[in-house]
Amino acid sequence: MPSFIVNHREYHCPAHPVAVICLDGCADEYLSTAIARGKMPRLAAMARDGWRGMVRGALPSFTNVNNTSIVTGVPPCTHGICGNFFLNPETGEEVMMNGPEFRRCGTILTAAADAGRKVAFITAKEKLRTVLGDGVVERGGIVFSSEKVDEARKETHGIDNATAIIGKPRPEIYSGDASIYVLEAGAALAEQGIADFLYLSTTDFMQHKFGPEAPEILDFHARIDAAIGRLLDAGCTVALTADHGMNAKNTADGEPQVIFVESLLHQQFGTALRVICPITDPYVVHHGALGSLVMVHLEDPSIRPQVAEYLFGLDGITEVLTREQAVLKLELAPDRIGDLVVLSGRDWVVGKSPEHHDLSVLHGGLRSHGGRYEEMVPLVLSKPLTAELRRLAEGDPRNFDVFSFACNA
Ligand SMILES: [Zn+2]
Repeated sequence: MPSFIVNHREYHCPAHPVAVICLDGCADEYLSTAIARGKMPRLAAMARDGWRGMVRGALPSFTNVNNTSIVTGVPPCTHGICGNFFLNPETGEEVMMNGPEFRRCGTILTAAADAGRKVAFITAKEKLRTVLGDGVVERGGIVFSSEKVDEARKETHGIDNATAIIGKPRPEIYSGDASIYVLEAGAALAEQGIADFLYLSTTDFMQHKFGPEAPEILDFHARIDAAIGRLLDAGCTVALTADHGMNAKNTADGEPQVIFVESLLHQQFGTALRVICPITDPYVVHHGALGSLVMVHLEDPSIRPQVAEYLFGLDGITEVLTREQAVLKLELAPDRIGDLVVLSGRDWVVGKSPEHHDLSVLHGGLRSHGGRYEEMVPLVLSKPLTAELRRLAEGDPRNFDVFSFACNA
């Protein structure tokens, strides 16, 4: 059995195909509800014959942070991606971490390709392709997004005629189809023997829009289940997890329940401080750049205890950690976070100022993530646990152990 080591972790690959799925924003309630309504028979069978449990994601519970952890197998303190944005301490500029140069370690994907696997990384969002797919095509693998599948070429993406191989045209990015397409594309590559080591990462557009009981999301999960069935029928070991959960963040009137942290701090302590919302990305229709974690940067570090105490006293704020505490307890990289890391409650979000966030893009209330209440996510594996994986599962399993679960099952 060929094995490889990356970032000090060992993966033993089975001869048959392996498919790891990151179902973006998939809080456990989505799966429980869909299974209870009979919408996910294949996933229910996986849980019965294999394993289903809860695993802990990385904080901030954002997409890039957790997708990076999943493809590296390590926490953010090692890979360095602590959000979509960080404040560069040297220049004072807000920097978007939208390229592989911000990542501080290699990926499981390139290591698997080096070990002779036919790797395919398929994502809904083009940004994840560029951030995490580096080095795969050079090693004979395939990397593309459903958002831009029609631009995939052999030289740049490792594949020509992707839409013909998949048998469907490019889907719309703001749709459930963008995610279903990712799994169907993976299934097509596995069925045709084009790939045998797959990472399939969807988008959380549907989860931002709909709670677990909505008919639209039940239909969505039924289609996800059919695609999982195709992967299983193609002989794959399938392991499914999520990057983060998802919660409603509204008042009783259905309005977004927001604390504008920078506005409040400017009133209390003057303007020599800045708030960074590391959830900010080009896909604002999802969440209006409002999540449940922000970073506070102070020009005068001596006021930090007073600022922390003030924030901790606010309704809806649940945790205020110093940079040093966040490094120790949230496993974050000290140079990529603020002087204070601020987290909000299950039904609250934290933002910068009212001018900074366009709430008009949100229709039907806000559902978002980023904080402690979106940290625990499901993991479902199609194979029973080995004794070693059982020990892992009964300890403090992480969502970024998912490749270990899939390969070592
Ligand atoms: Zn996400």
